[in-house]
Amino acid sequence: MRGSCLCGQVEYEVTQLDSPIRHCSCRTCRKAHAAAFNTSAGVQREHFKWRKGTEVLKSFESSPGKRRYFCGNCGSQLVAQRNGSEMFILRVATLDDDPGQRPEAQIWASDEVPWLEHGPQIPSYPEWTPQHK
Ligand SMILES: [Zn+2]
Ligand SMILES: [Zn+2]
Repeated sequence: MRGSCLCGQVEYEVTQLDSPIRHCSCRTCRKAHAAAFNTSAGVQREHFKWRKGTEVLKSFESSPGKRRYFCGNCGSQLVAQRNGSEMFILRVATLDDDPGQRPEAQIWASDEVPWLEHGPQIPSYPEWTPQHK
């Protein structure tokens, strides 16, 4: 499977996911991703390879010993890693291919925003709303 950032300067390749996919609703993920939750999965180092763009990667230590890596040009969050860990925490939404697995859990539900509505209770359109000009 391949993945990339928004601007395309960073690309990576993953041969398999090594943990279940989970949604994380914690405050730190919400701010880092500017989204209601972040979807991630663990990938062992030997199953992850940067294809290009490592020179534009930036990182931020969001909690002690944990760094979040993102494209320094467009800001896409790509992976996180804990000091000394052999596991990358992959940001599944940056994959360009379907990993085949489906999320198995939501964590940090205690931090979930009160405004998150997604699913059959709100109208859904394949692209813009019909009113969009
Ligand atoms: Zn980028
Ligand atoms: Zn989180």
